[in-house]
Amino acid sequence: MTEHWIDGAVTPGTSGRSGDVVDPATGTVTSRVAFADPADLDRAVASAAEAAEHWAALSVARRTAVLFSFRELLRTRADELVDIVVSEHGKVRSDAAGEVQRALENVEYACGLPSLLKSDFSANVSTGVDVHSMRQPVGVVGVISPFNFPVMVPMWFMAVAIACGNAVVLKPSEKDPSASNFMARLWQEAGLPDGVLNVVHGDKVAVDALLAHPRVDAISFVGSTPVARYVYETAARHGKRVQALGGAKNHMLVLPDADLDQAADAAVSAGFGSAGERCMAVSVVVAAEPIADRLVATIADRMSQLTVGDGRRPDSDMGPLVTQAHRDRVESYVRAGASEGATLVVDGRGQTVNGEAGGFWLGPTLFDGVDEKMSIYTDEIFGPVLSVVRVDGLDEGLSLINRNAYGNGAAIFTRDGGAARRFSEAVQAGMVGVNVPIPVPVAHYSFGGWKGSLFGDVHAYGPEGVHFFTRNKVITSRWPGTLSEGLNMAFPSTAE
Ligand code: NAD
Repeated sequence: MTEHWIDGAVTPGTSGRSGDVVDPATGTVTSRVAFADPADLDRAVASAAEAAEHWAALSVARRTAVLFSFRELLRTRADELVDIVVSEHGKVRSDAAGEVQRALENVEYACGLPSLLKSDFSANVSTGVDVHSMRQPVGVVGVISPFNFPVMVPMWFMAVAIACGNAVVLKPSEKDPSASNFMARLWQEAGLPDGVLNVVHGDKVAVDALLAHPRVDAISFVGSTPVARYVYETAARHGKRVQALGGAKNHMLVLPDADLDQAADAAVSAGFGSAGERCMAVSVVVAAEPIADRLVATIADRMSQLTVGDGRRPDSDMGPLVTQAHRDRVESYVRAGASEGATLVVDGRGQTVNGEAGGFWLGPTLFDGVDEKMSIYTDEIFGPVLSVVRVDGLDEGLSLINRNAYGNGAAIFTRDGGAARRFSEAVQAGMVGVNVPIPVPVAHYSFGGWKGSLFGDVHAYGPEGVHFFTRNKVITSRWPGTLSEGLNMAFPSTAE
């Protein structure tokens, strides 16, 4: 049983509720995970609130030392984390290793906290008066994460929030909960004081308790758009600072002058990597005529080279979907696309699989001739289903992308610098790739979408993460011995 991690120790829940943890490649229940009730959550928040005070008061040098130790432990224990991710999520090992590497980048960024927390100073703004600012931690931060990146997404927030002097209560996905407890132990081993990181497992009950808890100051959420909107509204109503990252429908526009081999490779890697269960997966290829026939044929050819199988096998390119219910939902979109009139170029149903029969398998699927009204276009499928929409050029492609309700990532494939520049400026998305299909920003930039892909003002990690996890304070000071103002009833100004 995966239990909660509260105040630096494994802590059995009081609710009596729990859920199955399933290996998606075999379909077998491998363990169970505790589901918190509000009392469990309350204990975690109390521990965090107490720890936050001491942690924030520690010197920057001592906090940095913990970050460096954690970075080293994460690097040396990465393989164990990869195994955990593969067994509960199902993604292939190379993909899980990439996720851990991106998590590590966030820790390395946070190791620079002495620079990140530097503030401004202005001398003598008025005679004898100086002004400086400081960024202080917000206090207790609630992090709610999705199943598809059980290491990287919690780390987007944990690393920066902890570095900035906050305490964290993490509520990871109940589908793959073990990585969070593993990371919590590593933080403890690195010297993080107990209570600065707590992990509470569960479902909506735990999330709702976190959103409403009066001692929680900020919420960072990542998940599907309907839940993101709910979390944003609910947490804001309870007076919390909140950032809620939602779902996506990422487009990749291919212009006629693009390197079609490069574009086809990118479409297949970004469309079917992690079985399409990535918020930055490409789900729509927008092919500008006259190259659509050639592009579709090249993509289909690349797809025939993919091996679907157990993520533990070195020859697998794509693993199973995360649950049976999700697999069935994705398959229902394949049926819907065919019945709504799209051309099914490659059918992933019933493909040969290098794994056990009980796994949640669905092969890579390609549709051509997709239009804006079809459900395979409008909905986030979050599976290995790639749609091709044909357009007559850059303008039509851009306006299609900009009409879409989501705005996470968007990419253009072209050799034309002017077209790429115009696309980058005009596209309504938070992250843009030029001949790069999954433009997930490096850790010293920030990650976030537009429109239905993010609710809130501030993106995740990087400089915007530091901004989110700290509050600004401005101090205006004058010392005796400088100019004495005497009695002055006018509103203070810098005229002196
Ligand atoms: P999800 O929305 O089902 O769950 C996310 C988290 O919210 C989980 O911890 C879950 O326990 C909790 N939750 C689920 N339903 C809830 C409810 N009704 N009330 C309160 N809490 C609830 O998402 P998922 O299936 O775990 O993850 C996939 C989704 O996450 C996709 O839509 C994907 O695009 C999105 N995602 C977005 C990003 C991004 O950065 N924008 C990154 C990764 C994943």
